[in-house]
Amino acid sequence: MAVKRPPFWPAAANERAMTQKRMPAAFFGHGSPMVAIQDNEVSRTWREVARMTPKPRAILMISAHWETGGSAVTAMARPRTIHDFGRSFPKALFDAQYPAPGDPALARRVQELLSPTPVALDEGNWGLDHGAWSVLTHLYPKADVPVVQLSLDVRLSPEARLDLGARLRPLRDESVLIIGSGNIVHNLQTLDWSEARGRPFDWAERFNDEMRRAVVEDDPEIAAAFATLGQDAVLSAPTPEHFWPFLYILGVRQHGDQPTLFNDWIEHGSLGMMSFVLAPPAAENAV
Ligand code: ZN
Repeated sequence: MAVKRPPFWPAAANERAMTQKRMPAAFFGHGSPMVAIQDNEVSRTWREVARMTPKPRAILMISAHWETGGSAVTAMARPRTIHDFGRSFPKALFDAQYPAPGDPALARRVQELLSPTPVALDEGNWGLDHGAWSVLTHLYPKADVPVVQLSLDVRLSPEARLDLGARLRPLRDESVLIIGSGNIVHNLQTLDWSEARGRPFDWAERFNDEMRRAVVEDDPEIAAAFATLGQDAVLSAPTPEHFWPFLYILGVRQHGDQPTLFNDWIEHGSLGMMSFVLAPPAAENAV
């Protein structure tokens, strides 16, 4: 089956990817854990994104599924694959492994960049949760790129998350791909299984539209002020953990980065799949 090009993808992106010095950054709406073992429009687009991105030396992953008191970073050499979802999912999903190595040196570098904010080095607790590996298994199926996860400190304000993202920017010039994995609209209580992509709830669509504006107009304050959207925010992000990785990636954004949106739809009424790559302009990266 032919791979559908993500909408708005610049025609020259392939050639540009070959000469880039600064890595892009990306936010992935990860949706259901099942995408990890599915070949569908979502997973095929993820593979396409990897093909159009320079292969990184390592990945820093910020997943909705690792919440901690205080920030932590995985620092083990061999992170385990965590199957953090309900028993109702099929055995094939529990059997899936993503044996990418860790990168303890990168973990220490993240700790250094985020200083004076304390960041704990996690050498034996976490690993790779499904918010990380369900995406990475399509981006880099050989699991040959080292991965470090940064946790979500549950105590931080939206502005503090933008700020942590901003402090991670130097990694992009060290061949590290920074990825946020969550969902901008994420209300599992209201999912409408009769509607695949047909009719999102109006509150979901309004919230998603505002967050798209934050990306397209390079206005992260719109996202940081998400709570001011009232009921639209309460319903779209009833618990904020899937929204938080979005804030880190807006913080990682650098002057001149161009956004490319993909999988820009809402599934089952209230699961927003909107994703984007932020790539530096070609001129800044010409060799
Ligand atoms: Zn999730």
